[in-house]
Amino acid sequence: MIKIPFLRPNLVKQETLIPYLSEIESSRIYSNFGPLNTRFEQRVMNEYFDELGAVTTVNNATIGLVLALSQSKRPKGKYVLMPSFTFAATPLAAIWCGLEPFFVDTCSDDWCMDEKILSESLQILGDQVAAVIPYATFGTNMNLNFYQQIHESGIPVVVDAAASFGATENQNHFGKGFPGCVVFSFHATKSFGVGEGGLIYSANRELISKIRQAENFGFSTSRETTLLGLNGKISEYTAAIALSTLDIFDQKIKARQQIYTWYLEQLDQKDLLRNGWTVQKTAGEIPYQFMSICCPDSQKNGDIIHTLVSQNIEARTYFSPPCHQHPLFIGYPHTPLPVTETISKRIVSLPLWEEMTNRDVCLVVEGMVPS
Ligand SMILES: *Cc1c(COP(=O)(O)O)cnc(C)c1O
Repeated sequence: MIKIPFLRPNLVKQETLIPYLSEIESSRIYSNFGPLNTRFEQRVMNEYFDELGAVTTVNNATIGLVLALSQSKRPKGKYVLMPSFTFAATPLAAIWCGLEPFFVDTCSDDWCMDEKILSESLQILGDQVAAVIPYATFGTNMNLNFYQQIHESGIPVVVDAAASFGATENQNHFGKGFPGCVVFSFHATKSFGVGEGGLIYSANRELISKIRQAENFGFSTSRETTLLGLNGKISEYTAAIALSTLDIFDQKIKARQQIYTWYLEQLDQKDLLRNGWTVQKTAGEIPYQFMSICCPDSQKNGDIIHTLVSQNIEARTYFSPPCHQHPLFIGYPHTPLPVTETISKRIVSLPLWEEMTNRDVCLVVEGMVPS
């Protein structure tokens, strides 16, 4: 019997949905950017992005990445530069757009793409670069100044911000003002979980308007297809869950940050951070999705997972193997990836869900390093 599961998604309770469901019944509008979807997007622009730019909902972040990339990529480019230390959806989106992933190594402290190595690769690849997709690893408020410069120099940037909805730094939401696309996931396992869903933000309203058209079969106002589209819309039922989630999201974020703090206290008490264990160097306030930690070089993450399982505690190893080691992606080009490979051998993703108690956290940390 599992005592402490890895995740325990906690979506909004059914009672909070009833008023929205009644609205759907009276409007008889079930999709196609209906009134609830519009209200959700307006609230997000108002409450999270200070009306700067625009957003459009999408039915998941993978489709969001495909749409953002296909509407941003340079037409003659071939490669999409991205970290290998990310989820498979990032390179898959590139391939669906007819492009090739080009994997770049990661920094050992913040676990985001290494900007220096990326710059060198951009130099070498020149016009062959179609776009760049950095990943804001595990929701961190990665500094986007460098990527804004790249975007403004003419190389389109799409940020994989799958775990970043709700991440802020000095009261500013992650991505606010960014001229390329920023793609968030609302999957049930993410902190703003609605089941399946996502959101694309950009400070560039025209870009969002093009993406909105693309996610509705590429239809122009006269319902003729004028660009390569697909169906990426969310239903009004999803919008209802999303609206209802907005009302309690602050509490959810606080609960997650509290658990993260408990982890840091326990790690400190057990002296782990002075004995080779490392946590990600992050910035700002993060709506933690889980607790990531690297075990000492002398150990392997698989062994830690087994030790935990023997005590009925579930954990994962995101992202191990890293993308360049997945069978489908093995043939694609990459820079040397020593840091990615080291982190992937050491990374452990520990349980973090909203009802976890301090006692649960103690059990997990004690469970990793049994005396
Ligand atoms: C979750 C995730 C995605 C995919 O999001 P979906 O909404 O499930 O499609 C993409 N990239 C990263 C880094 C993720 O963690």
